[in-house]
Amino acid sequence: MTFLTEREEKTLIKIADTLLPELPTADAHLMAGALSMDVPELLVESLETVTSSQQQRSLKLFLRLIEIPLVNGITAQRWRSFSAMSLPDRAHILRIWSDSPLELMRRAFQGVKRITLFLAYSKSPNPTWGRFDFNGPPGAQTSEPGVIRPMPISGPTTLQTGVLIVGSGAGGGVIAGELSAAGYEVIVIEKGAHHDDMDFHGQELESNRDLFENSGALTTADVSMAVLAGSTLGGGTTINWMTSLRPPDFVLEEWERDFGFSGVTSAEYQRSLDAVCERLNVNSAESVANPQNSALERGCKALGYDVSVLPRNVKGCEECGFCNFGCPFGSKQSTLKTYLQDAYERGARIIVRGHVDRVIHQGGTVTGALASVEDADGHQHEVTIRAKAVIVSAGSIHTPALLMRSGLQNRNIGENLHLHPVTTATGEYTDPILPWQGAPQSRMLNQYIDLDGRGYGYRIETPAAQPGIIAATLPWRSGEQHHELMGYIHHFASFIVLTRDFHGGRVRIDKDGKPVLHYQLHPQDAHHMMHGLLEAFRIQVAAGARILYSPHAKYLTHQVNGQRGVEKFLATVEREGLRPNAYALFSAHQMSSCRIGGDVRRGAVKPDGETYEINNLFVADASVFPTASGVNPMLTIMGTAHFLAQQIKAKLG
Ligand SMILES: Cc1cc2nc3c(=O)[nH]c(=O)nc-3n(C[C@H](O)[C@H](O)[C@H](O)COP(=O)(O)OP(=O)(O)OC[C@H]3O[C@@H](n4cnc5c(N)ncnc54)[C@H](O)[C@@H]3O)c2cc1C
Repeated sequence: MTFLTEREEKTLIKIADTLLPELPTADAHLMAGALSMDVPELLVESLETVTSSQQQRSLKLFLRLIEIPLVNGITAQRWRSFSAMSLPDRAHILRIWSDSPLELMRRAFQGVKRITLFLAYSKSPNPTWGRFDFNGPPGAQTSEPGVIRPMPISGPTTLQTGVLIVGSGAGGGVIAGELSAAGYEVIVIEKGAHHDDMDFHGQELESNRDLFENSGALTTADVSMAVLAGSTLGGGTTINWMTSLRPPDFVLEEWERDFGFSGVTSAEYQRSLDAVCERLNVNSAESVANPQNSALERGCKALGYDVSVLPRNVKGCEECGFCNFGCPFGSKQSTLKTYLQDAYERGARIIVRGHVDRVIHQGGTVTGALASVEDADGHQHEVTIRAKAVIVSAGSIHTPALLMRSGLQNRNIGENLHLHPVTTATGEYTDPILPWQGAPQSRMLNQYIDLDGRGYGYRIETPAAQPGIIAATLPWRSGEQHHELMGYIHHFASFIVLTRDFHGGRVRIDKDGKPVLHYQLHPQDAHHMMHGLLEAFRIQVAAGARILYSPHAKYLTHQVNGQRGVEKFLATVEREGLRPNAYALFSAHQMSSCRIGGDVRRGAVKPDGETYEINNLFVADASVFPTASGVNPMLTIMGTAHFLAQQIKAKLG
């Protein structure tokens, strides 16, 4: 039983068949269509699990509307139901929805298009991969289990501890390591499962399902931004790209000056960053540029820009390029390999598949938390953990949701959500690029980090890329056009524009207590992003790209032939603008939804990490940032958690 009626499901299958039809061609690779690849079954199953009830209602409406001849007649001059149309007419209808001036129509189209094409190109084995020389991931490299053995839970349980840490990512991992080193009794509870070197096979579809928040399909409420976050033991540090940047001084100064985050500009804070860098083996010696990063470097240098080499937390990188699905070689120095493992070896208990539903408190002091833990057979058990202190490190999406579910009222909780919105400028090169191979991120342009005199602008970097995410991102005008474009992706280099957003969104909870992300790119931030997009294209041209592809749904492309033509193309891109659900938009950095402030008006959390409302209830993750860090945030989160850990120790005695 799915949330779709039989009729709606049939329409959905027709859409999948339109997005990716069987093509009558002699080329065996081109023959593969959604139906022969069993995409509809996967699609129905995925939509059932990854979409919110609100999104399901919108999808059902879309599926019903396109079967009404009058609707198709008025919107697209095709007076038939969608399922009764020829393939070209069905493609026409989908283009009408894709390009509609009505955001709700674009949203409906994008919601189905992205997930269908992602599933089609990420599933393995895959008849399409040979077309673009994708040899698949490296597969598991070891049969050695990791050091950590999570605590088994097989029935209703009550536990007692000194400190309970909720979430095991960048923030939670460091807190666990630091507090266990100081002799505190520690339990870490993580809602994701435990995956380690031997489990990391690099398959795109399964890795998204097993290691990412909402199977990698989380979006903002209006579907306009894909929101990527880790949900596995080690959190984001297990699946991230290892870029390890210290926070810029001007950001730390802003945090202390404007928000009262006292101590963040101190030498002690810098010592916390040093300690983390040392434990993570942050180094630049292993930041070898793959062809995508070489293109960025070449283009920047040709334009006279300085380009920096990105330090990474890695030891013995094999440059397989599949870092975002967990490192099968054990080279990534995630919290799993460092702080969490240290804590475990000192006796910390680690519970996985444990979702903390509520923090409990009495008389203004925390007393523990209530969780539901899933055992190996899929049965849920209620677990009560009594603790003298609770540190919430559930990340910027879940930390505010958990605090709200626990009855906290501070008005900063869930506000000021910053996402470092990202879009892409893609160039096609004569030589193969194979964007999925090698260290994904090793070069960066810092030229435009301050466009407004307040420290807001963008950086240009490169992304990790596999066929599923590329297929979901590329513009779709017809099955033939998308098929054809996919045939060149091994020659594509993409540059990402990472925007430091000044204006934030908010996290709210739905009736079931689940977080919902409300975020719209503010015109000022959009202005910076557009500046970055145009600049990224200029860098592509300077690096030798021969065709440019904008991130727009409308398929704006340009064959490079002289600078005048390029500037004309850029003017078209600029005119197209950045309307929600009309271009590709991502976030891999969620921040500041429970920010630190020097007083209750400015922050949800005090400068020592304790909440303003409940004694001994602390927050230590990206949500405490007063504003967006401007740089990839892992190191800032870990340094901040390390710094807060020293104060938590002082407070707990
Ligand atoms: C694909 C990708 C690539 C990235 N690359 C980089 C990079 O190269 N460099 C960089 O600096 N940053 C990178 N980042 C960002 C960085 O990894 C994150 O910003 C960072 O991990 C966030 O740390 P955190 O402690 O706030 O939360 P997380 O690391 O997300 O940890 C939160 C954990 O809490 C768990 N949790 C949530 N709710 C509950 C609950 N109720 N009960 C129990 N557990 C719960 C989650 O499952 C999760 O594991 C990347 C992110 C992604 C997604």
